[in-house]
Amino acid sequence: MFEKVLIANRGEIALRIQRACREMGIKTVVVHSEADREAKYVKLADESVCIGPAPSAQSYLNIPAIISAAEVTDAQAIHPGYGFLSENADFAERTESSGFVFIGPRAETIRLMGDKVSAKDAMKAAGVPCVPGSDGALPEDNEEITRIAREVGYPVIIKAAGGGGGRGMRVVHTEAALLNAVTMTRAEAGVAFGNPSVYMEKYLENPRHIEIQVLSDQHGNAVYLGERDCSMQRRHQKIIEEAPAPLISPRLIARIGTRCAEACRKIGYRGAGTFEFLYENDEFYFIEMNTRVQVEHPVTELITGIDIVQAQIYVAAGEKLTLRQRDVQFRGHAIECRINAEDPYTFAPFPGKITTYHPPGGPGIRVDSHIYQGYTVPPHYDSMVAKVIAYGDTREQAIRRMRVALSEMGVEGIKTNIPLHRELMLDALFVKGGTSIHYLEKKLADRSEVKKQAHGVD
Ligand code: ADP
Repeated sequence: MFEKVLIANRGEIALRIQRACREMGIKTVVVHSEADREAKYVKLADESVCIGPAPSAQSYLNIPAIISAAEVTDAQAIHPGYGFLSENADFAERTESSGFVFIGPRAETIRLMGDKVSAKDAMKAAGVPCVPGSDGALPEDNEEITRIAREVGYPVIIKAAGGGGGRGMRVVHTEAALLNAVTMTRAEAGVAFGNPSVYMEKYLENPRHIEIQVLSDQHGNAVYLGERDCSMQRRHQKIIEEAPAPLISPRLIARIGTRCAEACRKIGYRGAGTFEFLYENDEFYFIEMNTRVQVEHPVTELITGIDIVQAQIYVAAGEKLTLRQRDVQFRGHAIECRINAEDPYTFAPFPGKITTYHPPGGPGIRVDSHIYQGYTVPPHYDSMVAKVIAYGDTREQAIRRMRVALSEMGVEGIKTNIPLHRELMLDALFVKGGTSIHYLEKKLADRSEVKKQAHGVD
């Protein structure tokens, strides 16, 4: 096992990884920007190295600075967390060629999955069901593009092969709008992702977002750890996640989960990963694979009792998965609310100093957060400041516990989306379960409509 791991991330996930390491008796090195110097997890780490100024491009995305930090501190492995360099194949490659272990899949796997066209091809070949669409990237020929769209059937969605974070997509409802949409998406993708290649999919009108967590070792063993429902999204950003997914039969999950584990064996996957699917009318359609730990991993941890971050570290160290599929048991229900430093109505980011902080607690409540009273949320990074996770024997109990937790939680000095979460935990359709990925956007649109009418403006 490693003696020392470098954590190339910040915020709650840096603390989460640090906790996993400490429990395993592994020393930690935390790299941080000038803006994160005062963070508590930086002080708790065995060693810390400042790698640059606040902007991520000069710190958390600065590959040479991170590799040098690993060299001077004699770390043996680097955990990239999520976001930042976690899905950067060049970083994984540089890490390994500099003599460190990258806690994640091999660089070639990251590259394969990072291009959505090659990822889809690989998944089709491995027997994972995909959204019907173009066979690979769209050709240049306009007539051919029009023919493909007719065959797929409108509405279609044009997506950038190199896209990510919900960007680089355009929905097309009619043939008249098609070619222009392809041209525009190509142009944007070229600028944003350095890759103008686009592909086409059938646009699913009312899907849910269901994902499968997997775990594989370097010796050909792979298991799936069940599913998560992440349909509650705004602008393609997840805000509530839960496991298991309400109203989907365990038999269907077992079938798709088995396919995912098989696909991992086929592509020689190493570590933790997530297969993301759209789910409609009892069918799963693969959209992409995330080759890293996810923000929402705790809900799976709570219903399986498996520590996913520790598993990542064991597997990276070359150990065999001792876990077999039949050992993976699902018990109870878990829900996660992402608490963001933002205005709950306009969603504008709201960084600043936290003057009061009362975290919730009690049976079944887990809070993954790096914040504390007196902490200043810097304006340079993602706005998520905490994850509140509630566990219960049943979904109803998990929701009740989440309501209590959110009513106890107090964060002052900054604005947060806690009021929105309180509202959603009482929302009749959320409570019923099974809402689609469009539900939250529609609800928010209705809400602002009601507000406008009440104030007599349009
Ligand atoms: P990203 O990597 O940018 O997150 P994804 O391929 O995962 O891109 O898609 C992001 C979101 O876009 C999905 O969660 C879904 O809301 C929407 N989306 C993508 N493909 C389709 C599709 N074929 N039909 C309907 N919605 C889609």
